[in-house]
Amino acid sequence: TVEETSNKDEGGNYDIGLQDTSKGVVTRFPPEPSGYLHIGHAKAALLNDYFAHKKYSGTLILRFDDTNPMKEKQEFQDSIIEDLALIGITADKTTHTSDYFQELYEYCVQMIKSGHAYADDTEQQTMRDQRMDGIPSKRRDASIEDSLSHFEEMKAGTDEGKRWFIRAKISVDDPNKAMRDPVIYRCSPEKHHRTGDRWKIYPTYDFCCPIVDSIEGITHALRTTEYNDRDAQYQWMLKALNLRPVYNWNFSRLSFIRTLLSKRKLTKFVETGVVWGWDDPRMPTVRGIRRRGMTIPALQEYILKQGPSKNIVNLDWHQFWATNKKYIDPIAGRYTAVITENRVQCTVLGADPNPSHEEKELHVKNKGLGMKLVYYSSNILVDQADAQSFAQGEEITLMNWGNAYVRKITHSMNPLNLVKSGPQPVSSLELELHLEGDFKTTKKKITWLSADQKLVPVELVDFDYLITKDKLGDEDNVDDFITPKSEFRTEAIADCNVAQLPQDKIIQFDRKGFFRIDRPFLDGKPAVMFQIPTGKEK
Ligand code: ATP
Ligand code: MG
Ligand code: MG
Repeated sequence: TVEETSNKDEGGNYDIGLQDTSKGVVTRFPPEPSGYLHIGHAKAALLNDYFAHKKYSGTLILRFDDTNPMKEKQEFQDSIIEDLALIGITADKTTHTSDYFQELYEYCVQMIKSGHAYADDTEQQTMRDQRMDGIPSKRRDASIEDSLSHFEEMKAGTDEGKRWFIRAKISVDDPNKAMRDPVIYRCSPEKHHRTGDRWKIYPTYDFCCPIVDSIEGITHALRTTEYNDRDAQYQWMLKALNLRPVYNWNFSRLSFIRTLLSKRKLTKFVETGVVWGWDDPRMPTVRGIRRRGMTIPALQEYILKQGPSKNIVNLDWHQFWATNKKYIDPIAGRYTAVITENRVQCTVLGADPNPSHEEKELHVKNKGLGMKLVYYSSNILVDQADAQSFAQGEEITLMNWGNAYVRKITHSMNPLNLVKSGPQPVSSLELELHLEGDFKTTKKKITWLSADQKLVPVELVDFDYLITKDKLGDEDNVDDFITPKSEFRTEAIADCNVAQLPQDKIIQFDRKGFFRIDRPFLDGKPAVMFQIPTGKEK
């Protein structure tokens, strides 16, 4: 991971500031309601919130940038509000670009009338080529009356209107290609999720963004650095329409290895069933990572540490999850699980023949978490992998109990289970307690479960990245890089205390790692738990 080191204060945080805040600070987060929030959006939202509410006492506007009716839905809009609340962001005001369709239309008329815009019907590919080569459209010098009448056709949504666009008349051959007469209005007779069929024309982002920012009193428009080239065009629009100035302030797009942060591509994952839904724990959505076990303070810390870095780096996920571990380690109660498959029955010599139990702390370093019951008996279960590692006569430590000698190792007699080389499967063990033994002298601290308790079936689920390539290029077809299997389920049994754990709880199974309870134990059906990465994984 390359981390930018400049611009940091002694605490390692970015010393982030905005230019000229003398007239106050009003920022906005402008998502398009065409999907669920992903962590890239979370970065944009948290930065806007940081300036408006933490660094300065300003105003944050949530503006739904709803100018593309083909992709937008109320469902997405609702989910965005919920997810922002989840990451601790409440806007002072919620607006829609569509609230300004009338004004935007009028501004477009004004632009045409002042000779700053014209109607064009150049075929799309030709227009692209001409913009590339710096060739003017043959409509560029059409009269204002002609352009206005085409705009009216567009507004009516007629077949003729559908052929036309409105373009800003900025430059034919500016070295900055964003300045080469960008399209500002399209005819698209789609039903809009808010304005219905009232409008047949929709403004482009390049046109609405400066205008609505200015109308709403935005002082600083935060945008990702890919918009650098479009800042000049943004400022041009404000000038052409004589609008109140707005500063542009750019930050880098968040990007992670083996991760797609594009609503369009994530939508495809959902629609083609690559994932279970937008909140699938493999999805880089706010819901997905939260379901995987990311905590909100960790997300906030991680993102604000990235701050205003303008370096576009492909981050790996380790630092992200390592930040989370700092937050969950102190609050995750400790429990025990044993892998069901080939678990090994052990007889413990020297144990009280009558099963007993004791209260133990859920977390030795956090007494506030309370207690759990630990059961003891002469009949316990251990993991096959542990059993296979034992040598005859070895002294080991049974966690939460004490030391024991390995007295007898019985290998499986079933020839089907015999493996050709390496350790043979163990079918049972005999241990002998040696409670005076010092756990500091043993190499193996073993997790175990008394068989004489109400063991709880659990399903432990681990995940892999959805895609197999660190950084997909534009030429890559996503379908060729989908990880064939990215979900791994292991059946296990857990101590009796696990039966009470509610959904969303984050726990640690000793020696197995951190888990979030996705489905609690209920009606005899196993609890489902998702492994939470800690940043140490390979
Ligand atoms: P997507 O391709 O995922 O749809 P977008 O930019 O088209 O991204 P918007 O809904 O328009 O999606 O984004 C809302 C805000 O979030 C914008 O200000 C945008 O710059 C910002 N944003 C989107 N993706 C990222 C990212 N990966 N990192 C930082 N900010 C982002
Ligand atoms: Mg966008
Ligand atoms: Mg996009």
